[in-house]
Amino acid sequence: MFDYKAPSQLLKDKAILVTGAGDGIGRAAAITYAKHGATVILLGRTTKKLEAVYDYIEKQQYPQAAIVPLNLDGAAGHDYLELANTIESEFGHLDGILHNASLLGERTNLANYDPVLFEQVMRVNVTSQLLLNQALLPLMQKADNASIIFTSSGVGRKAKANWGAYAISKFATEAMMQLLSSELQSLSPNVRANAINPGATRTNMRASAYPDEDPTTLPEAEDIMPLYLYLMGDDSLNVNGQSLDAQ
Ligand code: NDP
Repeated sequence: MFDYKAPSQLLKDKAILVTGAGDGIGRAAAITYAKHGATVILLGRTTKKLEAVYDYIEKQQYPQAAIVPLNLDGAAGHDYLELANTIESEFGHLDGILHNASLLGERTNLANYDPVLFEQVMRVNVTSQLLLNQALLPLMQKADNASIIFTSSGVGRKAKANWGAYAISKFATEAMMQLLSSELQSLSPNVRANAINPGATRTNMRASAYPDEDPTTLPEAEDIMPLYLYLMGDDSLNVNGQSLDAQ
């Protein structure tokens, strides 16, 4: 596991957007960020799940969260504009984005991959990240320091048979992180971009990808949070353009 012990109020007074915050790793990251003092903006497609995370954060007496129901498959320009306007009016700036939401798509070879599903996976896993960054960069430029974290995968560095659009989307995510981090150095040096490869983690997505695996052999999402904290907080101010392993 990545070795980092975060100060208890590492993210105090920071406003952080987490996509796919209703379940799995995104849920754990949102709660962990709130526990460390952040106001988290919970973005996802299933409002009930977001509400459950919101309620949990409230019950723990962490800073009050905000909910943004948004399906990243089919979200249009005005949705992103509305999101930026809401964040601007409530917080004035944005200190971080965790790009976490993803679709697994089909586990099949490219010869048989459904092209409609291919485009859907690319929209959710790649295009939505571009649109979010474009809409929210002006708000991140207003922060003292801001961190953009992308979520990669082992198959985003070395593709393996039958991982299809998912693997391609994770290679594209690595490229987007590298492009953004180098472009930001002159455009907006207060904003940095890095990626995390979570490694095998006990979530619904992992169970869909490996139905025969015993999930109790895997770490839980809460266990992999040290790297998520490190890259979001100011202890990583000098880290830019890196793709790191959470485990
Ligand atoms: P889960 O499937 O458990 O969670 C994914 C989250 O993304 C869910 O909250 C889901 O919402 C949300 N989401 C999916 N599609 C959309 C959409 N169209 N619009 C908005 N939100 C959406 O996955 P994990 O927690 O396992 O994965 C988190 C990240 O980690 C992903 O990027 C994944 O690729 C990556 N990863 C995970 C690994 C693992 O072993 N778990 C290993 C390597 C990488 P809803 O709950 O409503 O479906």
